[in-house]
Amino acid sequence: MRAWVVEKCGPVDGKPLALVDRPEPEPGPGQVRVRISCCGVCRTDLHLAECDLPPKHPEVIPGHEIVGHVDALGPGADRFALGERIGVPWLARTDGTCKFCRRGQENLCLDPRFTGWDQDGGYAEACVVNEGYAYRLHEALDDEHAAPLLCAGIIGYRSLKCAAVPPGGRLGIYGFGASAHIIAQLALRQGLRVHVLTRGEGNRKLATELGADSVGDAADMPPEPLDGAILFAPAGELVPVALRALDRGGTLAVAGIWLSDIPALNYDAELFQERKLRSVTANTRADGEEFLALAARLGVRPTTVPYPMDAAQDALADLAHGRYSGAAVLHND
Ligand SMILES: [Zn+2]
Ligand SMILES: [Zn+2]
Repeated sequence: MRAWVVEKCGPVDGKPLALVDRPEPEPGPGQVRVRISCCGVCRTDLHLAECDLPPKHPEVIPGHEIVGHVDALGPGADRFALGERIGVPWLARTDGTCKFCRRGQENLCLDPRFTGWDQDGGYAEACVVNEGYAYRLHEALDDEHAAPLLCAGIIGYRSLKCAAVPPGGRLGIYGFGASAHIIAQLALRQGLRVHVLTRGEGNRKLATELGADSVGDAADMPPEPLDGAILFAPAGELVPVALRALDRGGTLAVAGIWLSDIPALNYDAELFQERKLRSVTANTRADGEEFLALAARLGVRPTTVPYPMDAAQDALADLAHGRYSGAAVLHND
């Protein structure tokens, strides 16, 4: 099969990915093989391609927002039928035995595996997945529009929960990429007031179209204090900016897997009055199931930009340079 691999990580304009020929993967015990229809492009793929995240093994196939149909069952796999449409997300496996798994925090597992980092992902024609970590997909969305829900949506949802905004409260969203534009829709449909603070005319336009209560530049103060905020932009310099925008007791959740360094904080202006700063690390499968059900019920629909699979490297470069708004999705055929 044709597959993209991270040949030598480095700046995306230097073309770190290579298109290669690989044998089709065979599903092992408890795994199924997925004939890939679409794979979303996540900023984590860019971090991996550009060496922000250390490669776990050479020539890994990136991509962890995979939609396709089951075309082979490994020994003992019985959760899905042949031909069933499923989604393959970022969380590929946890050990199930460490103290974090045992207390329901599998997102903090001491020995996790991730799709498109530890094991081959979706920038290819097929992949295998541990069946217990895949999702059934609601029929409301076609493959292209379902794909971005699988990481951007799920991680964004966990970030929204971590930001702990009370019902009817005020949410700030810093950065407005794939994850943010999905979670803004969810928050608005749940009745929150949503203030978007982001660079880029295209992103601000999309936020306005989606119904944000206000839209400003990343460095602006929102028009009212925030009960909670999510930092989606991988920019540590925005941490103090967002903390200053919080009301007393508010929480800033940092959604990304990677963040540039955070400058020194001023305790009085940025943390005192019980403002909280926290990270968000991966997700549990329960987060995923909850989010996918909510997204279907509330009619959340990503704004997508399709690319042929052969253009994966261009899609990553366009992401790096902010050349599109919403979520890029790669298509096989
Ligand atoms: Zn564990
Ligand atoms: Zn992702």
